[in-house]
Amino acid sequence: MRLEKLRQSLAEENLDAILVSGADNRRYLSGFTGSAGHLLISPDRAVLATDFRYYEQVGREAGAFELARITTTMAALLPELLAEGGIRRLGFESEYMTVSELQTLNKATDGVEWVPLKETVARLRAIKDEAEIELLRRSAALNDEALDHLTRTIRPGMTEREAAWEIEAYMRGHGASKVAFDLIVAAGPNGALPHARPGDRVIEEGQPVVVDMGCVLDGYCSDMTRTFCLGEPSAHYLEVWQIVLRAQEAALHAVRAGLSGVAADAAARDVIEAADYGEQFGHGTGHGVGLAVHEKPRAGRLSEDTLQAGMSLTVEPGIYLPGQFGVRIEDLVIVREDGIENLTGSPKAPVLG
Ligand code: ZN
Ligand code: ZN
Repeated sequence: MRLEKLRQSLAEENLDAILVSGADNRRYLSGFTGSAGHLLISPDRAVLATDFRYYEQVGREAGAFELARITTTMAALLPELLAEGGIRRLGFESEYMTVSELQTLNKATDGVEWVPLKETVARLRAIKDEAEIELLRRSAALNDEALDHLTRTIRPGMTEREAAWEIEAYMRGHGASKVAFDLIVAAGPNGALPHARPGDRVIEEGQPVVVDMGCVLDGYCSDMTRTFCLGEPSAHYLEVWQIVLRAQEAALHAVRAGLSGVAADAAARDVIEAADYGEQFGHGTGHGVGLAVHEKPRAGRLSEDTLQAGMSLTVEPGIYLPGQFGVRIEDLVIVREDGIENLTGSPKAPVLG
């Protein structure tokens, strides 16, 4: 199915073949999870070129693909592969090939026209099939469990780093292959940095903590943020937290197939702007999640995407007050014809306990 869809784009772009080099794209199209190799896909052939480290793995994971053995370099093998298929116009993934790789391969393949492609496989990946949605559901469920574990163990006096490790150890201990991104546990003023790194800051009583977390389970990522306070919160924090929740609820309510990424973003942004915190919400409202934690579509002011049924999307408005604190609340949802399926089940509350 996935190959057939890619072959349609081949025909649309008038290409003889596509060289797929992005690791997640390789996995999506072939099942191959190895860290090196290229797919060469033409209307009648699907070849996976890789080196000796992965020969056996190709047979186990990517049975539908013909193995081409790289014994020296891809530049030495490719001319032969292209000649066999009579390939003259070759699409390549401009986001995943370095300038130096392209120069080397281009030089080795005289007479072949290299056509740069952007997001060709990403567009296919943006719409999940039901098997992928089930994998996202399971990843999000483990993420929920890990947060539940954290809320039972986190105490004032713990450092951000220790709290992040509680989450990560739980995930790894319950089947995750890794974390989906560098986990964020940001206490007090650190929460005002949307991409804070957990450090030696001690989590204090009464201080808001932003926890942004995700795991990789069977290849699929999850992504969720909760902001909570241990102990007595300030009135200002409670006010800001409620605004962010209202913004998130507005977007969760608005998202459905056919809505533009700009409109999905505006649904959350309008609430925050109306409360006079527009300047403190400097990032987009959401992104797709799948084999990668950030993928198409985007919900943001500059998004060119239109939401379609089967897409995944995070909904994660935030307000960041430098020197004070930040609040972000993030769920991962599946876009359906008439609304959403929310994969994130964790409760939302401004204060823990
Ligand atoms: Zn996140
Ligand atoms: Zn996110």
